[in-house]
Amino acid sequence: FIIPEFTTFCENIEDLYWKVKSKTDGKVASYIPQLARYSPDLWGVSVCTIDGQRYSIGDVDVPVCLQSVSKPLTYALVLNEQTPEVVHQYVGHEPSGRQFNEIKLSADNKPHNPLINSGAIVLCSLLKQDFNLADRFDYTSQMFKRLAGNEHLSFNNSVFLSERETADRNFALGYYLREYKCFPKGTNLMETLDFYFQLCSVEVTAQSGSVIAASLANGGICPITGERVLDAGAVRNTLSLMHSCGMYDYSGQFAFDVGLPAKSGVSGSVMLVVPNVMGVYMWAPPLDQYGNSCKGIEFCEELVDKFNFHNYDNL
Ligand code: GLU
Repeated sequence: FIIPEFTTFCENIEDLYWKVKSKTDGKVASYIPQLARYSPDLWGVSVCTIDGQRYSIGDVDVPVCLQSVSKPLTYALVLNEQTPEVVHQYVGHEPSGRQFNEIKLSADNKPHNPLINSGAIVLCSLLKQDFNLADRFDYTSQMFKRLAGNEHLSFNNSVFLSERETADRNFALGYYLREYKCFPKGTNLMETLDFYFQLCSVEVTAQSGSVIAASLANGGICPITGERVLDAGAVRNTLSLMHSCGMYDYSGQFAFDVGLPAKSGVSGSVMLVVPNVMGVYMWAPPLDQYGNSCKGIEFCEELVDKFNFHNYDNL
């Protein structure tokens, strides 16, 4: 086993879970009612190792929309089909140092990276561009489900409708991107934005999310089914950008303190990857000033304090 003393390890995870549970700061996202309705007390942590050992505690069966956690998955799917050279003609590799939804491009007029809204919207236009929208959604949700080992994956239509209804900024970004010719030829902007909102509205549970994280930790092979879902190179590139750009404007400090690739979303999810060891999915809706789950961040910090998972810990 990759984690030999798994029972002891789980006892430690349980202790951290209860320790972090007492942290009650942060505010639940309120820009759409569907997110505002999440109880601030929800708190779940699921772990899945690359050899399929599982541990879950708390609210790990409640569906939660992926929101920005979908962004690295979209990026990985595009990289799975096209070379990084082609993909990166459309999107950069650098942290933006700006709000995730800011109307701003890099000096060469590309979105800074695939994990902010502008980059993710462009990536949506690249994913299976020759399919119609229904088939693109089917393809993508099936791939997400394979990464999740066929465990829970759903689509929340009211989240989608609300996202679209309140998405002035994303529409503005879309037009701005079109003005700067950021999309490939033949892109239908409205369909691309719909696709982006749809992928934000895909739901996992902490349990199924931990399997997705574990598939990334395992180089693209799902540890539950043994199926290779993603090319190892696509996963490597995805993890690299999650490491530098995954946690909004806290990404630099997160890389410093935790030293692991992760992605958070406005629903309060944090998907953490410990490469070659395990995936962890944390969910607690209250967010800090950067938009990261307060409990999620705290848990990640406690985890690397306890175990030497930080990339530069001396093993
Ligand atoms: N639906 C949100 C947006 O596009 C996603 C935000 C997020 O999770 O960062 O603005």
